[in-house]
Amino acid sequence: MYSRKVRALTPYVPGEQPQNRQYIKLNTNENPFPPAPGVRDLLRNFDPSRLRLYPDPDSTRLREAFAARFVLEKENIFCGNGSDEVLAHLFYAFFDEEFGPVLFPDVSYSFYPVFCSLHGLSYREVPLGEDYSVNIGLFKEIAGESDYSGIIVANPNAPTGISLSRSDIIDLLESSRSDRLVAVDEAYVDFGGESVTDLVNRYPNLLVVGTLSKSYSLAGLRLGYAAGNPDLIEALTRTKDAFNSYPVSRLAQEIAVTALEDTDYFEKCRDELIAVREWTAKKLSDDGWRVLPSKANFLFAGPTFTTAEKLYAILKERGFLVRFFPSPRTREFLRISIGSRTDMEGFFSELSRIRNEI
Ligand code: PMP
Repeated sequence: MYSRKVRALTPYVPGEQPQNRQYIKLNTNENPFPPAPGVRDLLRNFDPSRLRLYPDPDSTRLREAFAARFVLEKENIFCGNGSDEVLAHLFYAFFDEEFGPVLFPDVSYSFYPVFCSLHGLSYREVPLGEDYSVNIGLFKEIAGESDYSGIIVANPNAPTGISLSRSDIIDLLESSRSDRLVAVDEAYVDFGGESVTDLVNRYPNLLVVGTLSKSYSLAGLRLGYAAGNPDLIEALTRTKDAFNSYPVSRLAQEIAVTALEDTDYFEKCRDELIAVREWTAKKLSDDGWRVLPSKANFLFAGPTFTTAEKLYAILKERGFLVRFFPSPRTREFLRISIGSRTDMEGFFSELSRIRNEI
């Protein structure tokens, strides 16, 4: 009974969300801080009878709030039910099998190949450099010598946390075809990366995707956005309206506006998270781990006293969830999301107990 398309699908496997016991969750890059205090007030005062009505299909007020934050117009903004949904629309709207493969790094967000399988697109993985950074030179070379459908890079990259500079992205934009999309997934950019959102009117083929899941502590809300030239936004809107005209609920639109407008709280949490990341990174490298330089809310770090895979399993038994990616280039590392300072202190105490036992 399954369609051929569904039979051919290999779905994305998200980080575990076990319900059987309490874990210190350092495995899905959730933010340890609560959302902005205004969100709590909004939920307390929300009149449930307003849920009788469908929400604004165009998320107008929310797009205005994003536009204010990015110093753009609302016509530059698209909103969706999490950035995964925005990405799914992006792959459908801009990548075309006729043009050739989609290009992305060989180590990157593991949903990209899944979107390709969903939409019947081929892809080519561009190897990271020896130091695990995205190799812009190689992207330029490949894009220069054969046709391709478009490019997507996560900046900072996942799961490495390594970021590209603005000038790297500009270099890519300047040297690749202007009739092929360059998408930059900025899910983690607020934690110290360099955003290119302000360049979307200068480069009509640049689309920046982002989320409130990480830096706004709203993973449970499901709110993602894209910023781009109005013509690109129109293509996403068309795709959305052929799929679900009301992807962002009334409640989600209002909560997101409230969170976006509280810039002081946002900055306070971000700064605290960065400080805990730097503290954690230093402590891990002092303990002999190989720690990649991260500008995200996680660290990609390799233990030396045992294998990453074994340590992942032991930590899980002891109530600490981190993420392990078993492929050849990632299996020496664990991806450790940055929790609160207390979470990380607990993590280090457990680590030293484990070290003493093995
Ligand atoms: N892009 C990257 C690089 C991610 O790691 C994630 C989180 N898994 C997402 C996008 C999706 O985030 P969300 O759907 O929660 O907005």
